[in-house]
Amino acid sequence: TPHLPAPDRYDSMQYRRCGRSGLKLPALSLGLWHNFGGVDTLENAGQMILRAFDLGVTHFDLANNYGPPPGSAEETFGSVLHSKLAAHRDELIISTKAGYRMWPGPYGEWGSRKYLLSSLDQSLKRMRLDYVDIFYHHRPDPDTPLEESLGALVQAVRSGRALYAGVSNYPASLAAQAADYLREEKVPLLIHQPSYSMLNRWIEDGLTSVLEEKGVGCIPFSPLAQGLLTNRYLAGIPMDSRAARPTGFLQSSAVTEEKISRIRKLNDLAVERGQTLAQMAVAWILRLPVVTSVLVGASRVAQLEDTVASLQKLEFSADELSRIETILRE
Ligand code: NDP
Repeated sequence: TPHLPAPDRYDSMQYRRCGRSGLKLPALSLGLWHNFGGVDTLENAGQMILRAFDLGVTHFDLANNYGPPPGSAEETFGSVLHSKLAAHRDELIISTKAGYRMWPGPYGEWGSRKYLLSSLDQSLKRMRLDYVDIFYHHRPDPDTPLEESLGALVQAVRSGRALYAGVSNYPASLAAQAADYLREEKVPLLIHQPSYSMLNRWIEDGLTSVLEEKGVGCIPFSPLAQGLLTNRYLAGIPMDSRAARPTGFLQSSAVTEEKISRIRKLNDLAVERGQTLAQMAVAWILRLPVVTSVLVGASRVAQLEDTVASLQKLEFSADELSRIETILRE
């Protein structure tokens, strides 16, 4: 039975223009890297997608290899979309990517035209879609000419398989070249998807100014450092957390006492601000004007609800910002 969407779903979400494009994205988007695979519960995955939609989260981010097994997150998303949200395709921005290993042999990863276009066709089949809204090159390929990878994105758009082109994990100088090339091809680079959080600030060193100058949007991934920047690990590693699960990318060895003592201080500051640490971590990212949307993950509906409520308090005083800097530098 189709989902009956909340009539007020567009009332409290903020929508921000993506670079100098005509497209607006929700301030928070939902990523399906973890918790939507074949190893996860379809029911929980479906509930998170539908709750997100009801909260005004119009953007869902996938990649060919999300699962595990690879491809299964796209299948999950396709099945929820067709069974529950079929009438709402035009209210959704669905992205996918290719770049990491997806199938065996020399054409199953990186950045050749061969790989990118065949992977996109596979993604469309798994999601049972005619087109995706954004198709990304997932990571730069040192062995393929940039023009070949970007040319495949252009082809994806011109052939109607994608509406917009994006890149992910491109360093600043390569992102600038990509933006210039794609502008000349009349398929402007819509968006860049880099990692970014309080614990990982590489984009501040050049990339953000390139994106601002070129009019490209920015959607940071792992804004909660995969769950570290939340109240999840304040008192050890919970059994049901990403760090404890065998299929989780976050290793328990990354949950160090040194990090946690810093995170406890950040948590105290968040509590003082009247919000959770996850909410403060998201608000802190949205302080940058170049950021279009913050791409969060979730393992349950309650987390998603908590994170979306970040929007209730986005502003920081100068004092709060400098206290955060101090905690991060200590
Ligand atoms: P986050 O940093 O948002 O981590 C998500 C995890 O944090 C959840 O699984 C959950 O952990 C925990 N969490 C989330 N919300 C809360 C909350 N409110 N309170 C407490 N804990 C919370 O992001 P991800 O690492 O999941 O990445 C998000 C998306 O970014 C991916 O799904 C993907 O779309 C994209 N991405 C892109 C990459 C790229 O190369 N382009 C690489 C990585 C991600 P737990 O599961 O333990 O409950």
